[in-house]
Amino acid sequence: MPRLSGKIALVTGGASGLGASAVTLMAREGATVIIGDIEVEAGQQLVEVLTHQGLQVEFLPLDVCEEADWDRVMAQIGERHSALHVLVNNAGIAPEGGMDMSFALWRKVMSINLDGCFLGTRAAIGTMRATGSRGSIINISSTMAMVGEATTAAYSASKGGVRSLTKAAAMYCAGERLPIRVNSVHPGMCVTPLVENFFAAHPEQRAIHAAKYPIGDLGTPDDIAWAIVYLASDESRFMLGAEMVVDGGYLAQG
Ligand code: NAD
Repeated sequence: MPRLSGKIALVTGGASGLGASAVTLMAREGATVIIGDIEVEAGQQLVEVLTHQGLQVEFLPLDVCEEADWDRVMAQIGERHSALHVLVNNAGIAPEGGMDMSFALWRKVMSINLDGCFLGTRAAIGTMRATGSRGSIINISSTMAMVGEATTAAYSASKGGVRSLTKAAAMYCAGERLPIRVNSVHPGMCVTPLVENFFAAHPEQRAIHAAKYPIGDLGTPDDIAWAIVYLASDESRFMLGAEMVVDGGYLAQG
């Protein structure tokens, strides 16, 4: 029996990287997965590939910063599927920036990484409440929510916000007696296009970063996607407001 059989899931930023892996593994585990992304072409290409493999995958254009986009996407999911069981708030950006970064860049990171997560979580709770669905909301944070580096001012702040917002949303759902679980995932560095772009600009950083990981290497998108499958499934029914760290031992070292 597939682990996500019968579930309707939305993955933001699902056209690329960790999101694309989550879309693929969740669909293989029996979910119908909707990719929500600003990258229309990449999203539609992934739908084509996975549909060809017999998986149930769809694409909806979605800019996570736009409140009206969330209203439209929730209405479209309601019309097509009558329910939403899983939301993965994965869309995010990670531009470098220290304490000399521009306010415009700070606002952009906050808008996509934190505002987008708030809007998505609020929208999903509304839809799940209206349809009476048992739900799981999975917020992709980062190890950088717990620690900072010199160039992660906005990124660490936004992911720290996602970490705390997750707990507040989880307590809201519990207080309202809604069967909706909200948890965060904290990946260490995984080799995705986001990270490839960073290494393209700083080739010497690849070995430097890999050496920071006690397990001896950087992660892969599937390493994170399996944690997402677990949180999406009913196997994780006792997890609420929790932080799932998947980081090759990065945060555990002294
Ligand atoms: P990625 O750049 O490969 O993919 C990000 C996706 O988000 C892209 O498809 C992009 O089009 C989409 N996106 C960007 N802005 C959007 C918006 N406004 N609305 C909708 N979609 C938008 O990145 P990734 O490495 O796969 O990262 C995915 C998530 O995981 C991010 O939240 C990132 O912060 C987090 N994360 C990644 C790593 C890592 O090492 N890759 C580590 C920790 C956390």
